Amino acid sequence: MRFVVANWKMHFLSDQARDFCEAFLADYVPSPSVTAVIAPPFHLIRPVADSLRSRQVRVFGQNGHAEPNGAYTGEISMAQLQDAGCSGVILGHSERRQFFGETDEALVAKVKAARDWNLLPLLCVGETLEERQQGRTLEILDRQISILARTGPTPLWVAYEPVWAIGTGLRAEVGQIRQAHAFIKSRLTTLMNQNFGPVPILYGGSITPETFPELLDIPEVAGGLVGGASLDPLKFATLVKQAG
Ligand code: PEP
Repeated sequence: MRFVVANWKMHFLSDQARDFCEAFLADYVPSPSVTAVIAPPFHLIRPVADSLRSRQVRVFGQNGHAEPNGAYTGEISMAQLQDAGCSGVILGHSERRQFFGETDEALVAKVKAARDWNLLPLLCVGETLEERQQGRTLEILDRQISILARTGPTPLWVAYEPVWAIGTGLRAEVGQIRQAHAFIKSRLTTLMNQNFGPVPILYGGSITPETFPELLDIPEVAGGLVGGASLDPLKFATLVKQAG
C-alpha cells in the first residue's frame, strides 16, 4: 500500500475547493494499492469530505488541539475534526513547529488525543538546513520520533520532511532519504513494538509529478506528503496514479 497526502495549508476558498474536487474526481482512478488523502483548511473539511467520501479519498486535519473542548480561542479539537469528517490529522508539520511554537511536549498530548478520537496521526519530522549542515540530522530525527516513547502504542504514519526541501524546489538526494527513512524505521521498531504493524514512512518536500516516480523507486519510501503540487487537481491525480 502506498500513500499520497495533499496538504492544502491555508489555501482555497469554497468555490476553489469545489472546482478542485470536481476536476480531481474526473481524473482520479481509485486503486486498492493507494490511499489518497486531502488535508484541507478547517472551513473546507466538511464539504471536501462530503464530495470525496464515496470515492474512498480520506480527509485529514492539518493540526488539532489535545483537549476535546474548552477555552482555547482559535483552536480545533480532535473531536471536532472527527465530527467534521476527518479520519486522521497531520501533526508536527515544520510550519507548526516554526511559526506556532509547536513543541515535542505538545505533540505527545496531541498524538494521544488523536488516538483517543480514532484519528490517525501523521507525524512530521525533519531537520533544518542548519541542523543538516551541523551534522545533526539523525539527532534531530531521534528527538522528534522519541516522543512516541511517551504516547504509548498507536496506529501511525510518519512523514520525513527535510525543512529545507519544503516549498523550496529543492529535493533531498536519494542517499539522504534512504538514510533518514532507515533511521526512523529502526527507531520506530524499538519504540512502538510494531503493535499495529509496520508504520508507513512518507517523504515530503517539493514533490512534483516529475520527481515522484524516482522517489517511489526508493524501497523505504511508502508515499508522499505534498504541498504546492497538491493544489493543482490534475497534478495531484497524477501523483496518486504514479503511486498505484
Ligand atoms: C509540505 O508542506 O508538507 C510540503 C511538502 O510542501 P511542498 O510539497 O510544497 O514542498
